[in-house]
Amino acid sequence: MDEQMARLLAGGMAGGQGNDMTRLMLQLLQERMASRERRQADDEDDDEEVIDIARLQSEAVQLRERLTEMRRLNRALRRQVKLAAEFIADLGALLGACPACLGQNPACIHCQGEAGPGHDTPDPALADWIRPALARLRQPASTHITRTDPTPQQGETP
Ligand SMILES: [Zn+2]
Repeated sequence: MDEQMARLLAGGMAGGQGNDMTRLMLQLLQERMASRERRQADDEDDDEEVIDIARLQSEAVQLRERLTEMRRLNRALRRQVKLAAEFIADLGALLGACPACLGQNPACIHCQGEAGPGHDTPDPALADWIRPALARLRQPASTHITRTDPTPQQGETP
C-alpha cells in the first residue's frame, strides 16, 4: 500500500504535476518506510525471536501430538467402517441382496439400488436366522413385548 502510494506520488512528480505538498507527502512516506525497515531489523536482533522459536517449538510438539491422536482415531474409524462394510456384505449374501447397499441406495455403483433382498438366491441359512423374527410377526399384538414389559424373555436382556 505504501509502495503503491509512493509510486503514485513519484509518478505524479515525474509527470511535472508535483508540488510542495506532494513532495512533503513523499518525504513522510519514505521516512515511514525507512523507520519500518529499521524496526524490522531491530526485531531480528533482539531475543524476542528466540522466545518465538521456543513458542513455535512448543506448538509444533502439541500439533505433532494432536496429529498422532488424529491418526489413531482415523485408524479406529477405518476399522469400524471396514467391519460395518463386512457386516453389510454378509447380510447381503444372506438375503440374496447387493453386498454394498442391500438394494437401498439408488447411487450404488454395484446395483443402482435395484438388488434388494431376493434379487439373487438367498443363503439357505437365512430361513433359520430369520425364523424367530417371522414367528414374532405371527404372534397376536397383545403378546408382543413392549418396552414397559418388566419380564425378560428367553435370550433377551431386560
Ligand atoms: Zn447396491
